Amino acid sequence: MSKVEDFLTPEEEQAIVEAIRLAEKETSGEIRVHIEKTTSIAAFDRAMEVFHLLKMDATALKNGVLIYVAVKDHQFVICGDKGINDVVADDFWDSTKEIMAAHFKNGNFRQGLVDGIRKAGAQLQRYFPCADDDTDELSNEISKG
Ligand code: CA
Ligand code: CA
Repeated sequence: MSKVEDFLTPEEEQAIVEAIRLAEKETSGEIRVHIEKTTSIAAFDRAMEVFHLLKMDATALKNGVLIYVAVKDHQFVICGDKGINDVVADDFWDSTKEIMAAHFKNGNFRQGLVDGIRKAGAQLQRYFPCADDDTDELSNEISKG
């Protein structure tokens, strides 16, 4: 696995976008997936950079969640903005990452991503219920670098 295009089939991509859409129906929180080939810096640092580049740090309630994948490096990160970080359990991101990693190890990238989206979505729904005037602050489409 070294190419971004090989990471997910178009059908799998659609399943992921749909998982994001469904999760966001019940929360003001915003989830995005960014996939790129490789990073020259630590994956977590790069995820923070992407978070900023995608303007994910600009949500009203600071409740954006990013799943970042560097395909060729076999690295991924799931991280959230301050609003969500402040309320979830300390081990939330690590435990979510473990669930995703188990699927990734088996080459099941779609399921890993969908499970990560669902798990993050459940926490967002709990702490950031959807308001009547909710807007889709960040696109649900997968971002590719
Ligand atoms: Ca929203
Ligand atoms: Ca969105």
